[in-house]
This record gives sequence, C-alpha cells and structure tokens, in this order.
Amino acid sequence: MAQRVVLIPGIGEVTLVKRRGSSHLRLSVTANGQVRVGMPSWTPYVAGIAFAKSRQDWITAQLNKHPQIVLSEGNLIGKAHRLHFNGVKQPLPKVKTKMSPTSIEITTHLAYDSAMVQEKAQAASERALKTETVNLLVPRLASLATQHNLTYKDVKVRKLTSRWGSCSSDKTITLSYYLIQLPWPLIDYVLLHELTHTVHLHHGADFWNELERLLPSAKKISKEIKHHKPRIEPA
Ligand SMILES: [Zn+2]
Repeated sequence: MAQRVVLIPGIGEVTLVKRRGSSHLRLSVTANGQVRVGMPSWTPYVAGIAFAKSRQDWITAQLNKHPQIVLSEGNLIGKAHRLHFNGVKQPLPKVKTKMSPTSIEITTHLAYDSAMVQEKAQAASERALKTETVNLLVPRLASLATQHNLTYKDVKVRKLTSRWGSCSSDKTITLSYYLIQLPWPLIDYVLLHELTHTVHLHHGADFWNELERLLPSAKKISKEIKHHKPRIEPA
C-alpha cells in the first residue's frame, strides 16, 4: 500500500492511498478530520489530487461537521481526568484504554495523532465526561433546585451536540455531558437556566426576570457561553 500526503490549498492535508484491487477513486473524511483519497494502484497521484479538488465543497462541509480536535499528552478532560499516552515498541493487537477516576491511559505502539489512536482517545474521553457529569453535575443541579425551591421530574445525561441542556414540558431536564468542561460559573448558568424553564417554558421576559433574580449576571454569561461548543474541548 503506497501513500502520499499532499497539501492542497483551501483543503489542507490530504492523504492519497493507493490500494491494489481498488477500482475507483474514493474520498473520505475521518471523525478526527483526516481527508483521504483511496485510489487504484495504477492511477497517478495527480488524479487523486484533482479528485479531491473537485469535491472541495463536500470536504469543507465534512470538516465543519467534525472539527479537528487533536488530543494530546497531559490534556485535562472535564474537571478530573488527565489524558496520558503510553508508547510501547512491541506492536499490540489493539489500542488499550484504561480509566481511573483521575486518568485516561492510552497504550499503543502507533503514533498518538493517528486516526485509530485519536478515535480511541476521544471515545474514552467521552466516557469520562459522561461519568463526571453524572457524578458532579447531577448533584449540583439537585442542590441548586433545593436552594431556590424549584422542582424537576428527572435528570438525564446525554451526548447533546447542539445545546448544553434542555427542559421538557414534564420538567425532565437533560444535560449535555460536554457541559462539565465549562468553567463553573457557566455550568451554574446552564443549570439555573434549565431550572428556570421548570417555571417558564420559554425565553420571554418572565423567564429572564426570574433567571436574573437567581443569577444577576445571567445575560452576560449567556453571551460568554457562545464562545464554547458542545464537543470535546481539552484544557
Ligand atoms: Zn432555554
């Protein structure tokens, strides 16, 4: 299997992979943003480059869908997990992951930034974020509710990628597990925002008056939070 990495203006790095037995050009974008063109071994590399260029709009759309986040040694995941990569010389049949309450250990003979290792590290990080959200934010929501004399039916922790949380008409609050990565004042804003929806199920004046009564800086924080996205954001 021969391959070549080229830099295409407007797209970035593209990996051209020649495969024996392959009969046509095939374009893919991996979850961690690697652009690959699979091509028959008899096709010249320039044909692969031209193919990628002709699909630039599609590639850009895919890259925006999966913004490239490269996890690296020592990253803090959430509030408590430190990410560590352990390199070994001996090839392992698969990438090993081990989790403790304070660490995520990835053991592999492969390069840390390879797609395979990054996918494993991201999957383990997501599990850590979910665990932290259940352990830290679910009790925090309960204590804020008690403090402000508010009630909700249930709380769920999910992988929400377009919002930080939601509150249904039956007062079930759902929290995105990416929320645990935000600074505490922003987390409290989201928790109080959802708790306010148990009284006002809209974003009208009544809602904001009540939320600002609980948290005077609510409007300022609602703007600040726009700088973050519900996705893995290592610190
Ligand atoms: Zn809302």
